[in-house]
Amino acid sequence: MPNLDDRLHDIYAEVLHRNPGEGEFHQAVHEVLDSLAPVIDKRPEYADEAVFRRLCEPERQIIFRVPWVDDAGQVQVNRGFRVEFNSALGPFKGGMRFHPSVYLGIVKFLGFEQIFKNSLTGLPMGGGKGGSDFDPKGCSDAEIMRFCQSMMTELHRHIGEYTDVPAGDIGVGGREIGYLFGQYKRLTNRYESGVLTGKGLTWGGSQVRKEATGYGAAFFTDEMLKAQGDSFDGKRVVVSGSGNVAIYAVEKVHQLGGTVVACSDSGGYVVDESGIDLDLLKEVKEVRRARIHEYATARGNCATYVDGGTIWDVPCDIALPCATQNELAADHAVTLVKNGCRAVAEGANMPTTPDAVKVFSDAKVLFAPGKAANAGGVATSGLEMQQNASRDSWSAEYTETRLGEIMQGIHARCAETADEYGAPGNYIVGANISGFIRVADAMLALGVI
Ligand code: GLU
Repeated sequence: MPNLDDRLHDIYAEVLHRNPGEGEFHQAVHEVLDSLAPVIDKRPEYADEAVFRRLCEPERQIIFRVPWVDDAGQVQVNRGFRVEFNSALGPFKGGMRFHPSVYLGIVKFLGFEQIFKNSLTGLPMGGGKGGSDFDPKGCSDAEIMRFCQSMMTELHRHIGEYTDVPAGDIGVGGREIGYLFGQYKRLTNRYESGVLTGKGLTWGGSQVRKEATGYGAAFFTDEMLKAQGDSFDGKRVVVSGSGNVAIYAVEKVHQLGGTVVACSDSGGYVVDESGIDLDLLKEVKEVRRARIHEYATARGNCATYVDGGTIWDVPCDIALPCATQNELAADHAVTLVKNGCRAVAEGANMPTTPDAVKVFSDAKVLFAPGKAANAGGVATSGLEMQQNASRDSWSAEYTETRLGEIMQGIHARCAETADEYGAPGNYIVGANISGFIRVADAMLALGVI
């Protein structure tokens, strides 16, 4: 990673010292601090008031035991987390991830990203994140329910519509949010819809929430292309992953005129030259909850499945990494550039390693960081909170229009800020600085908190 400006280096050293072994968190902090030196030049009060140092330390971190009984009657023990990072702009807001890779450093990296992402949406939401090292893969529905109930039995005392509002992330979708909400309601005797987002459409959820992260990433990419006088029309696109973000990125890219030719899961990837068949992808992933190779089997000769390997070997004009952190490394970036890739937008959180980002920037590839490009999910969570607060329910058309406007706004804010700070076209600089300034100004206004 490149050296930081002297004034920010000490803050980073403190983060390393205080949070040993949390590599993903270090990476996320470094990426943001790396953009902020010009902000200190313009606004010295941020340094005087230790805003950077305060931002790197979560307001509160909760770690707890989650015991549950599996179908064989055995007691299992997992670890639950909620990191309430920053509430200067509103209640802590951010998803929960259920995946065996989850540990405190992952939750902190995601919570830290969430502060700036939520700020960029322009909505009143602070940043937080949670999850568990629980592995839902292979669990029965009843096991998922018992796990979620146990998780909420501890979590409920820390959250609330004015305090902290969790949602989904990897491994947590509508089913899990349902079980979590059911237990919250039972424990508190309150139908407090606004305590969780990503709820079902029939009980307080928002239209377009499920689609929002993927749609938002496609909208942001479209804005980026438009700014170059270009569009998705006729473009060949590769989308990694096949979860919620990837599926709806594929859907919107197709609606905007591009063709997604490949997607993946942790086992391998499929290539379908005539364009991914969305109905089949949804059937395999959402209904059957099966592996992606079943997509290729069902498509017969039309699609090929590559076991293992890397999806970034598939030539494309536009790459949308929508799977997980650090999935796109420097050698992948070199291959993408060599094969003619011109734009990359992060649908996942921090999927591109710092070295890969450098390869893209040296090659002048348009690059949208996750905190801007994948903000559509949390933005629509903000819209869900608005509907819950006013006991209202909006149409899909209206909600998608609002999402589109928010993504346009984020794009405009990033582009203008990048121009203002002498880095035209650099969406990383634009996102980090404009996300930071809104939070920092709120922190200054609220005193030393
Ligand atoms: N997990 C999503 C994210 O990374 C959504 C969070 C939310 O809706 O609160 O932004």
